[in-house]
Amino acid sequence: MKKCEMLYEGKAKKVYATEDENLVIVDYKDDATAFNGEKKGTIAGKGVVNNVMSNHMFQLLEKQGVPTHFVEQLSERETVVKKVQIVPLEVIIRNISAGSFAKRYGVEEGIVFSQPTIEFSYKNDELGDPLINSYHALALGLATQEEIDKIKEMSFKINEVMKKYFDTLNVILVDFKLEFGKTADGTVVLADEISPDTCRLWDKDTKEKLDKDRFRRDMGGVEEAYQEMFRRLLGETL
Ligand code: ADP
Ligand code: UDP
Repeated sequence: MKKCEMLYEGKAKKVYATEDENLVIVDYKDDATAFNGEKKGTIAGKGVVNNVMSNHMFQLLEKQGVPTHFVEQLSERETVVKKVQIVPLEVIIRNISAGSFAKRYGVEEGIVFSQPTIEFSYKNDELGDPLINSYHALALGLATQEEIDKIKEMSFKINEVMKKYFDTLNVILVDFKLEFGKTADGTVVLADEISPDTCRLWDKDTKEKLDKDRFRRDMGGVEEAYQEMFRRLLGETL
């Protein structure tokens, strides 16, 4: 499988067409952004960690019955995935208060919820990905009721699988963002990525952050955190 023309360059990945109209190649970059692109930087080795970690998580989820876009890893930064029409919603699941939830509702980080929460943002950079509810998503024609129901059901299932798995790595899954897409036949599948860019991951014992918050908050040890997650997932270093 080889890359044809570049279809899209995003903040963290490039997407290329292939000879098969139903498949694209995703190429992960080391570029990092935060706060809707206001803060920019590079995290050395991030592209490799995010590619390998996403593929690892997608394969685990497939085994648990969650359909994903994953097809085949081509190299340490490149993966063949099913080309999907992305549903323009960022789905955020939270197990513990942090980030924009803590800020919006004026609570501290680290409150363990009795049950997970779900929220949607309208995936639209110009508008700064505004928070919306599922009625707004329907009104805006972003998805059908059936698709929204499916996305909610899949998201909570993904949370259960991921929570259990990260626990075996001595990692707490605080919150994460998912994107879904529709394949040519209309099937809703998990797309985009699952990585330290898109999840909050805390060490179970020390509560040390092993994710992009180290970059967002200028905490230092950013590369090391990504490498540590890679090591815990695969038991090896890059
Ligand atoms: P952004 O667009 O937010 O800057 P990225 O740099 O991660 O994000 O770019 C990757 C883009 O590819 C995203 O817009 C994402 O929605 C899209 N995408 C992810 N998976 C697929 C897929 N399987 N098919 C088509 N597009 C995808
Ligand atoms: N997230 C993401 N992309 C976004 C917004 C959020 O991957 O555009 C992830 C983020 O890494 C965190 C979770 O979603 O794991 C919840 O993020 P939050 O709403 O707290 O926003 P943030 O603190 O990133 O502004």
